[in-house]
Amino acid sequence: MRDDWREQRNQIIGLGENSFKKSYYPELQEKLSELETSYKNLKSIFDNVEDGIVLHDENGCVFFHNKQMSGIISTRQDLGKEIDINVSELFPDEQDKNKMQGIWKEVMGGVSKVISTTLMPIGSDRKVHVQVSMNKTIWYGRPLIVAVIRDFTERAKFENQLVMAKEKAEEGERLMTAFLQNISHEIRTPLNAIMGFSGLLVENELTTDKRNDFVSIILRSSNQLLNIVNDILTISSIETRQIKLREARANLNELIDNLFAAFKRETDSKGLELKYQKGFADNKAEVFTDVLKLNQIISNLISNALKYTHRGSVTFGYDFNSGEEGEYLSFFVKDTGIGIEKERQQVIFEKFRKIDDKSGALNTGMGLGLSIAKAYADIMGGRIRVESVFGEGSVFYLEIPYKPIY
Ligand code: ADP
Repeated sequence: MRDDWREQRNQIIGLGENSFKKSYYPELQEKLSELETSYKNLKSIFDNVEDGIVLHDENGCVFFHNKQMSGIISTRQDLGKEIDINVSELFPDEQDKNKMQGIWKEVMGGVSKVISTTLMPIGSDRKVHVQVSMNKTIWYGRPLIVAVIRDFTERAKFENQLVMAKEKAEEGERLMTAFLQNISHEIRTPLNAIMGFSGLLVENELTTDKRNDFVSIILRSSNQLLNIVNDILTISSIETRQIKLREARANLNELIDNLFAAFKRETDSKGLELKYQKGFADNKAEVFTDVLKLNQIISNLISNALKYTHRGSVTFGYDFNSGEEGEYLSFFVKDTGIGIEKERQQVIFEKFRKIDDKSGALNTGMGLGLSIAKAYADIMGGRIRVESVFGEGSVFYLEIPYKPIY
C-alpha cells in the first residue's frame, strides 16, 4: 500500500524549508496532523466494513486496501514496509486474468461494473466465490479503481445445501406419493379378493372343490394383507427407534429347515427349485443371535427371490467366514431371476424404492422389504449387500458377527 498522503506532505515541505520553518511551520504542522487524523479515521471506517475494499490502477497495482482485504491479498511485509501487491495475482488462470484486465480498462473509462467471480487468495490454494463491484475514483489526484469485494463462499455453500435439501425433500415427497398410490393398490387387491370370494361362498350350488379353492384364495389374500400391515408397522417402529436387539441361543440349521419348509410349497407351485446350504454341522450350529430378525431378513430376501425369478432356482443358506473385522456369518439368497441394473443396486435398500418407481407404474410390493432387512441388519451389527447381473440373477448377502456359544 502506498502512503500517498505522506507523498503529498513531502511535496509541501519541499517548497522551501527555511522560510517554511520560520513562518508556516506551526500552521502546517497543525494541518498535517489534521490530515493524518482524517486519514486514520478514514482507514478505521474502511477497516470496520465487512467487505474487502481495494484501490488499484488499471494494471492491478494496489494503492490502498482495508483490513478485510489483507486476508485475501495476504499483505506481505518487507522490513516493516509493505512490498508491492498486484490484484491480478488473485487470478492464477491466464484467461481470468486477461478478462479482469479488460474489465479494469472499461471501469477506468468510466463504466461501473458488478461481477461474480472466483479468486484465489495469494499464497493459498482455496477458491473464494466473490462479488466485486468496481467504480472509478480519484485518489490524491490519481485516477484509480475502487473495488468492493464481498465473499460469497459461505453463502454459495449455504445455497448449495439449500438446493440439495430442497431436492431431497422433493424426492421424499415424490417417493411418498408413489408409496401411497402403491399402498392403496396393494391393500385393495387382496381386500377385493377377500370380499368377492366371501360373497361367492354363500351360494348353495358350490361344489366342495370350488368352495375349497375360494377358501384358499381368501386365506392367501388375508395373509398378503397381514404381511402388508406388518411391514408398515415394522417400518414405523424402525423410524421411531422402537426396535431392540433380542439375542438368545438359536440353532441356525433349524432356522434353515424352517425357512425351507415355509417356502417349499410356493416354490413348487411356481415351478422353481429351492435349495439350501448349511455352514455348520447340526451339533455346531447353535449361536447367540436375534433369530426373529434373522428369520425376517432371510424371509424377505427369499420372498423377493421368488417374486423376481420366473425360471431356474433359488438357493439360500449360510457360511462361516473370518476377515479383518473378526469372525462372521455370511447368509446368502441366490436366484436366477431378472437381476438388477448396476445403478439401481444401492437405492433398492432405501424405503419405498421399487425398480419402476420412476415410471410411477405399479407392480406388486411396496418397496419396504429390503429397507426393513437393511435396518435389521444394522441393528444386528451387520450389513446387507447385493451382487447382481441384470437379466441373469442376484445374490443378496447378509453378514453378521459370529457369536458362538461356549
Ligand atoms: P418390494 O416390495 O417392491 O419387493 P423390496 O424393498 O423388497 O420391495 O425391494 C425393492 C426393489 O428391489 C423391488 O421393487 C425390486 O425391483 C428389487 N429387487 C429386490 N429383490 C430382487 C431380486 N431378488 N431380483 C430382482 N430385483 C429385486
